[in-house]
Amino acid sequence: MSGAGFILAINFVVAGLLAAAFMAVALYDAKLTAARWFALSYGLGMAYFGVEFMIYALGSNTPAIVFSFAIVLAGMAQFNVGLAQKYSVQNPRTTMAATFIVSVVVCTLIQDLPRTSFWRMLAYQAPYFAMQLIGVWIVGFSRARGRLDTVLLVVLSASALQFLSKPFLMVLAGGTGASAQDYLKTNYALFSQTLATIFAIGVALLMLVIMARDILADVTSKSETDTLSGLYNRGGFERRASKAMEDALRQGMPVSLVIADLDHFKAVNDTFGHASGDRVIQAFAGFLKSAAGGRQVAARLGGEEFAIILPGSNLIAARLFAEGARSSFSSLPIEGLPADRRFTASFGVAELLRLESLSGLMRRADEALYAAKKDGRDCVRVARPAEVMPGTAIGRVR
Ligand code: GH3
Ligand code: MG
Ligand code: MG
Repeated sequence: MSGAGFILAINFVVAGLLAAAFMAVALYDAKLTAARWFALSYGLGMAYFGVEFMIYALGSNTPAIVFSFAIVLAGMAQFNVGLAQKYSVQNPRTTMAATFIVSVVVCTLIQDLPRTSFWRMLAYQAPYFAMQLIGVWIVGFSRARGRLDTVLLVVLSASALQFLSKPFLMVLAGGTGASAQDYLKTNYALFSQTLATIFAIGVALLMLVIMARDILADVTSKSETDTLSGLYNRGGFERRASKAMEDALRQGMPVSLVIADLDHFKAVNDTFGHASGDRVIQAFAGFLKSAAGGRQVAARLGGEEFAIILPGSNLIAARLFAEGARSSFSSLPIEGLPADRRFTASFGVAELLRLESLSGLMRRADEALYAAKKDGRDCVRVARPAEVMPGTAIGRVR
C-alpha cells in the first residue's frame, strides 16, 4: 500500500473516532443537538474514505468520483448545520443546498477535462472552499464569541483557503496521476490528504474543546443558580459580589449591600400553604431581578432571605434603593394569592468599609436587617459606617 493509501486507512479510523467522540457528547446531553450533526459529518468522512479506498482497489468511473466528492461536500454541510445550531445562527440551508447541487453538476461536467488541468482542479476544490466559507460565516455571525470561537474562526478560514491552494499544490507537486486509481500513488495525494487530515482533526478537536467549555460553563452556572427563584444562590452571589467589590475598589467607587428577609413568612406558609409561600418567594425574586440593573447582582441566600450588591452606590443611594424596593413590594399583589393580601420584607443596608471583606460587609448588613426586624419589620435600617479605627473595619448598627 502506498503512503497515501495508509493515510486513507488512518483517516478512516480517525474520522470514526471523532464521530464517536461527538456521538458521546450528544448522548451525554440530548439538548446538544449540534454534536449529533458533527458526528454525522465525521461519519460521512468515514464513508468518503471508504469510497476512496474502493476506487483505489477496484478502479474508478465518473459516478464513483462524483459520489466521493458529494459525500465530502455533504459532510461539510452537516458540519455547518451543527455550527449553526451551536452558535444559534439561522441555518443557511438554501445557500448550502444550492452550493451542493451546482457543485455536483459542475463536478460531473469537469470529469472530461484532462486530470492535469488547473481549472478542473480549481472547479473541483472551489465548492469545498465555498462550503467551508459558509461555516466561517456562521461562526463570524454569532454574537457570543469567546477566544476559542475566534480561534475556530481562524482555523476554519485557513481550512477553506487550504482547498483553494490545492490546484497550485497540484501543479507544484507534479499532478494527480494518470487515473483516479493512480491518484493515491502521487506526491500530490500525500500532501493533499495530509493537509485535509490536519485540518479535519484540528477543527474537530477545537470543536470538542469548545463544547467541553460550554458544558462546564453550563454546569457551573447551574450550580450557582437557585432553582426556585432563578437568582444566584449563595455561592454564585459570593463569587460575583467579591468580583464586583474588587472592581469597584479598583475604580475608587463605593459598594453597598442590601439584605432583605420576608416578614412573618412562616405565617404565610401556615396560612396559604407551602406552594403559595414559594410563589411569594418567586414574586420577590422577580421583583429584585427587575430592580437590579447593570452590574448589580441579586441572589437568594437561602429560605426567604435575599441579597443585592450595588456597585457604585454609597450608603445613601443604597438606602434609597432599599426604601424603593420595600414600598413597591409591599404594594404588590401576588398572583394566586388573595388580591387584597400584601406581603412585606425588612431590609438591612451596609456600605463597604475600607479593608472590609465580603463576610464583614454581610455581617453588618445582617445586623442592620436584625434591627429592622426588631423595629417592627417592613422597614429599612442601615449599618453605620462606624468609628473605624485605622486599619480595621468594624461597623455598628444604628
Ligand atoms: P421574620 O419576619 O422574623 O423573618 O419571620 P419569619 O416567619 O419570616 O422567619 P422564620 O425564620 O421564623 O421562618 C422562615 C420560614 O421560611 C420558615 C420556613 O419554613 C420558610 N421557608 C424557608 N424556605 C422556604 C421555601 O423554599 N419555600 C417556602 N414556601 N418556605 C420556605
Ligand atoms: Mg422572614
Ligand atoms: Mg429568614
